[in-house]
Amino acid sequence: MEKLYELIVIGGGPAGLAAACQAWEKGLRRILILERDSELGGILNQCIHSGFGLQRFREELTGPEYAGRFIEMLADTGVETRLDTMVLQIVPGEQGAPHQVHAVSAKEGYQVLETQAVVLAMGCRERTRGAISIPGERPSGIFTAGAAQRYLNMEGYMVGRRVLILGSGDIGLIMARRMTLEGAKVLACVELMPYSGGLMRNIVQCLQDFDIPLYLSHTITDIKGHDRVEQVTVSKVGPDRRPIPGTEMVFDCDTVLLSVGLIPENELTRAAGADMDRRTNGARVYENMETSIPGIFACGNVVHVHDLVDYVSAESERAGAAAAAYVQGKRAEVNARMVELKNGDGVSYTVPQTIRADEVGKMVDVFFRVNRVTGAAAIAVRDGEGNSLTGFRRAHLAPGEMEHILLPGDLVRQAAGPITIAIEEDKGGAAQ
Ligand SMILES: Cc1cc2nc3c(=O)[nH]c(=O)nc-3n(C[C@H](O)[C@H](O)[C@H](O)COP(=O)(O)OP(=O)(O)OC[C@H]3O[C@@H](n4cnc5c(N)ncnc54)[C@H](O)[C@@H]3O)c2cc1C
Repeated sequence: MEKLYELIVIGGGPAGLAAACQAWEKGLRRILILERDSELGGILNQCIHSGFGLQRFREELTGPEYAGRFIEMLADTGVETRLDTMVLQIVPGEQGAPHQVHAVSAKEGYQVLETQAVVLAMGCRERTRGAISIPGERPSGIFTAGAAQRYLNMEGYMVGRRVLILGSGDIGLIMARRMTLEGAKVLACVELMPYSGGLMRNIVQCLQDFDIPLYLSHTITDIKGHDRVEQVTVSKVGPDRRPIPGTEMVFDCDTVLLSVGLIPENELTRAAGADMDRRTNGARVYENMETSIPGIFACGNVVHVHDLVDYVSAESERAGAAAAAYVQGKRAEVNARMVELKNGDGVSYTVPQTIRADEVGKMVDVFFRVNRVTGAAAIAVRDGEGNSLTGFRRAHLAPGEMEHILLPGDLVRQAAGPITIAIEEDKGGAAQ
């Protein structure tokens, strides 16, 4: 058995890097990051477009530049890293005993590491064709958008010449622009829902600026091709999301990119026994990003899918600081009064799901997504008796854009029963 670590961080993407740096800053000295890839930076390494760091650094950085800032910060600490190391299992310690992390690498073989705290920062993977069952033949030329992005930006392969994109998530939108800039013809982006799944800025900068049509309420109903994709049929769908016969459009193309959602990578979390939230597909967390297993924290895309990395970094710093407090014995009170956050009308999930009311500081960060597009609307925050605690106004809300509010700690402490967050659309005046 090796030395006892204070903190092991699983995943060296932006979440893991920020958590480790913050835990060091707060005084931990035996910290280890385990990363299965051959370099730190996570998904940012393949995101060579700009648009990262506008909030955090007030600069427009590329993904590798943003990751580079944190890798430089890490170099000024004594945090250890093991690359090319895949974590296979976490065995939570009973009653304050150290947690075990089982990992494997070609260099070190099978390793069983012990640690007082763990930060889970494993990110997401993409939904594939199998997960959404597209009809048609099974030729080559069908990629997830992220896989195509890796081939193009990191391995130097052009994945196709005439491209159709299914799904309007941010990765698909970014790839529509990227493929166009590399000389491909992107024929259309096709989205099942009546609204886009991506950020408005990406719709404008990646589709509209390049005259790429976006077909909302449409889906792929057939793929033809023997060796390679040759033809794709797209149909309009009704409110029940079923294809409407007679609306078919046929595209001659050689490539289909899928941008149909991300799934938080939580096999380790589930196997460790943490309580999960079926709406986020991530662990249920408290306000300090601690999971239901004491001493195991989670942050970044493994908890819920983020659209901006700046929020990933801020959330992960909270997780790193909380892990340090846990190791230093300043841990959150297990018997603190629990306040549940409930999803009201229009809200599909919140993170955190539970707040330990006696533990919160001045403000509590709450992230959530809405389940429909609205114009001007109010975000209503009510206690268990329906009394309004506070409210926030927005000019526009959309499922593709993560929302963030700050709840005053005093308000949470005084709340009677669970707190419900709901959307109340303005019938009249504009939001401020
Ligand atoms: C295509 C794309 C475009 C984006 N564009 C923008 C943008 O323009 N602006 C913006 O702000 N944000 C953007 N984002 C969002 C942002 O990049 C992500 O939110 C952020 O990278 C998530 O960070 P993370 O550390 O949680 O996950 P990741 O970056 O995915 O890192 C997770 C890491 O964990 C490692 N790992 C997983 N499992 C294991 C294991 N068992 N053992 C060891 N290591 C493991 C992985 O190898 C990976 O390195 C984009 C994301 C994508 C995918």
